Amino acid sequence: MPAVYNGGMKILLVEDEVEIAEFVMKGLRAEQFSVDWAATGEKGLMWAKVNEYDLAVIDINLGHGESGLDICGEIRKKGKAFPIIMLSVINDAATKIAALNTGADDYLTKPFFVAELIARVRALLRREKKLTGPVLAVADLAMDTLAHTVRRGGREIKLNRKEYTLLEYFLRNAGTTLTRGMILEHVWDMTTDPFTNTVDVHVRFLRAKIDDKFKKKLIKTVHGYGYKLEE
Ligand code: CA
Repeated sequence: MPAVYNGGMKILLVEDEVEIAEFVMKGLRAEQFSVDWAATGEKGLMWAKVNEYDLAVIDINLGHGESGLDICGEIRKKGKAFPIIMLSVINDAATKIAALNTGADDYLTKPFFVAELIARVRALLRREKKLTGPVLAVADLAMDTLAHTVRRGGREIKLNRKEYTLLEYFLRNAGTTLTRGMILEHVWDMTTDPFTNTVDVHVRFLRAKIDDKFKKKLIKTVHGYGYKLEE
């Protein structure tokens, strides 16, 4: 099965164990998901409130007296509806039922294969209709997310990984004004310094490839806000 790019999908990982967190992050990032890792429930809850996530993976036993079930419940109380997958070493029906009752969508018992976690992440995002068909298109610009190719007017355009991810985010939100903050949040991890002009620089690179040689420009600057991709 070819790898599928998931540009613009942002996942919150709440896990106190460094090795597990690193293994999960490595797997998700290899599939082009952006991942924010919170090592405590408190931090995870705070990020869930202020950032926009497409999905969260939360460990039940977070140590220091923190329970992932409480964090999940709190996230739901704040009205956040993104899918949540709980992780736990406990493989009993009572814990699974408790997880689902607090608002989790799925449950995975440790140890697990990262491929299974990724498959479950994809299944939940598909259910949310966040992952659509393989071809995303606006006007004569088309991205095949299975073949990883981009064409404009039938001509293939070579993009590097970041430009591709950025374009995928634009295509998935075609017609919507995206602020620099939204773009930074969805296309880059939280470790990126928000006070740099990273977004503008990469939008310029992307425009040079998909717009500059064409009469009709698709990426528009929305002064004072950010950018919008539309016909
Ligand atoms: Ca743990």
